[in-house]
This record gives sequence, structure tokens and C-alpha cells, in this order.
Amino acid sequence: MGQGGSGDATLVTHEGRSAADHHGAVNPAVYRASTILFPTVAAFNARKSQRVRYGTHGTPTAHALEDAISALEGAAGTVLAPSGLATISNVMLALLDGGDHVLVPDNVYGPVRSLCTKLLPRMGVRTTFYPPRIGAGIETLVEPRTRLIWLESPGSLTFELQDVPAIAAVAQARGIATAIDNSWSGGLFFKPLAMGIDISVQAATKYIVGHSDVLMGTAACNGRTLAKIADAGSLLGLCVGADDAYLALRGLRTIAVRMQRQHATGIAVAEFLEAHPLVAEVFHPGLPSHPDHAIWKRDFTGASGLFGFALREPADKARAEAALSAMMDELRLFGMGASWGGYESLLVPTYPDRIRTATEVPADLRFMRIHVGLEEPADLIADLAAALDRWKEHAQ
Ligand SMILES: *Cc1c(COP(=O)(O)O)cnc(C)c1O
Repeated sequence: MGQGGSGDATLVTHEGRSAADHHGAVNPAVYRASTILFPTVAAFNARKSQRVRYGTHGTPTAHALEDAISALEGAAGTVLAPSGLATISNVMLALLDGGDHVLVPDNVYGPVRSLCTKLLPRMGVRTTFYPPRIGAGIETLVEPRTRLIWLESPGSLTFELQDVPAIAAVAQARGIATAIDNSWSGGLFFKPLAMGIDISVQAATKYIVGHSDVLMGTAACNGRTLAKIADAGSLLGLCVGADDAYLALRGLRTIAVRMQRQHATGIAVAEFLEAHPLVAEVFHPGLPSHPDHAIWKRDFTGASGLFGFALREPADKARAEAALSAMMDELRLFGMGASWGGYESLLVPTYPDRIRTATEVPADLRFMRIHVGLEEPADLIADLAAALDRWKEHAQ
């Protein structure tokens, strides 16, 4: 486990670079470019056939990143955007027309829920949020105008896995497009396109960049959807800076070693939490106790460093808040902040019970989301053990 697909470590080391094109340098140059010059009127008028023709359509640096991601995800091509959320909105705007209907899992990344409830309705697009464990039962929610089934597996905050091949089969039989948020696996531990999904999107901000210093989104598309997603990206003017593309490509070079380490540390920390008397539940698909562990073993080759756990909360609200502050405010190694996928560890409280509409989430649990970085596992466990001691002191 924690290996990635066969040859992935080799692939991320070698794809998306060509020393011969860059004076022998190992890495592609950073091409900061808006204007691209053409030597003749004929070449200028034929520029649409050129991959490098204007900055918004990508520079050689951005294309190197696209090529490497396409190889990793087994895609016909990859479309970049300046954030994960921008990639997701690009895919939705590309595939949905007024009057259409989209199916979105109830545990979708929060801002995507807002996109579906605040922006898409203004364009006449309706969303149904579905229970993520619905599997082939998704069929019962399909309407005549359903044009897109969105997936995210594991889903945000509560980490349910989806039966991706079952949902892809339903969609394919009806000619409905499918797109999945694959950020959790980094494109390394899960291969959605090989399972019949049309588009695998990632917040490259997370594991691809891997150092908490660049925002980026990738849409790895099959041949059926690539032109539509690329055209919409062009129409919307979505593009990424050359420096950001360079840093994302540099992050990608080490994704296999980082994620193998984070897989192992994540399992060790999850096992520590599962055995701890204060912890009510651990939401990590790599644990045999996880309800979707069988799906994880079937479809994934590893786990990222992101998972959840829950503490039983004291009924008294003031006491519950005091316990949370005592636990969190004195953490030594875990930072408190949005995002994940970097080399550093993070811990935040989450509130899934406030946003879900299609699934029951117990309200008496203190949900936490943890991201393990590249620190020594024993140091992380010691920091958490001390934090749980502080919780206990204030919760009683
Ligand atoms: C962070 C995140 C995104 C959005 O990425 P940004 O680059 O921050 O816009 C999308 N999906 C998931 C699951 C995420 O966690």
C-alpha cells in the first residue's frame, strides 16, 4: 500500500520535461509571456494551430505541467486554472446549459455547494445533493435534463468513499458526463479515468504543489470532454502564471515520496487516535474499521495524509468551547488553517452537521480534520496526546 500506480514514481520524475528544448537544463524554463511573436503574416494568421500563441492559452512552462498531469491521470489532456475552485467552476460552466440538472454529493467541498446554490440557479441550472454512498442507486435521481454527475471520493470532512465504477456505469449508459474531485489521492493513489469517469479535477494547491505556496487547479480530461473544457477555459480567460506552473511542476516531481510517507504517517496517527479513549470515531478509509474500507482496498493504492476524527462533546456548550480552545491553542506542531496537502501538519475543527442536506450527521460530536505532514510520526502523536489531555481536563 501507499505505492501509487505502477511506474508513477518514474512517470512524475520524467514526464513534462525535455532537456534538449532547454539547452540541456533538467527543468523547463519559466516563460513569463503574454505576447508571442510570429515572423510572417502567414504564421500570424495560422496562429490558432500553434500550442504557444498567446499567454492566456499557456506558455511552454504551463504546457509541461499539463503534459505531466495528463500522464499521471491517464488523460487526453489537462486544462489548468488559477485555483481548484476555478477549475471546478470551469468544468460546470462548460458542461451545463440553462434548464439542466446536476447531481452533487452531499459531502462535496463546501465552496462547490455554494457555487451550486448561489451561482448555477441564476443560470437556470438545478442541483440535487445526493447521499455519497448511493452507488448504483444514483439511477433513481437521474432526470431527463441531468447532464453531469459530480463525485468526490473520499468526500470532504466526513470521508465517505463512493462506488465510482458503479456510478460511472449508470452515467455512461445514459450519456451523462461525470467529473470527480480527485484532490485527496493526488492523482497518485486513485485513477478515475481508468474507471470510466470523464474528468478528474484536482486542487493542485494540495498535493501536487505540496508546499502550501501556490494555488492551482487541474482538469484532466478524456478525449470526449477535453475540447469542451479547454474551450470554456479559453472563453473565460482562465490561465496560470508561469512561476506558479513551474512551482507546481517542481512539487509534482516529489509527490510519490511525499505521499508514500504521508500515507504511512496517516495510518499510524489514525491508529493512535482510534485506540484513544476520548476519540469516538476516526474517519480514515485505510482503517479496517472504516465502513468503506473494502472500496478503498479495491480502488485505491494508498491513502493521503488527510482524514477526520470526532470527540464526544460535553453537553454544556461553554465547557465544549473551553475544551476545544484548550486543546487547540497550545498545539506545537499542528497549524490551524485552511487547505492541506503541504509538507506540514494541520488540525482544524469542522462543522459538517451545519451544511448537509441529504445525510444525517450526529450533532453531539466534535468533528476534527487532520492533515499529517512530513514530520516524525512520533512527534505528531506526542503533540496530539498532549492536546487530548488538555481536552480531557477542560471537558470534565
Ligand atoms: C481545497 C479544495 C478545493 C479547492 O482548491 P483551491 O485551490 O483552494 O480553490 C477543491 N476541492 C477540494 C476537495 C479541496 O479540499
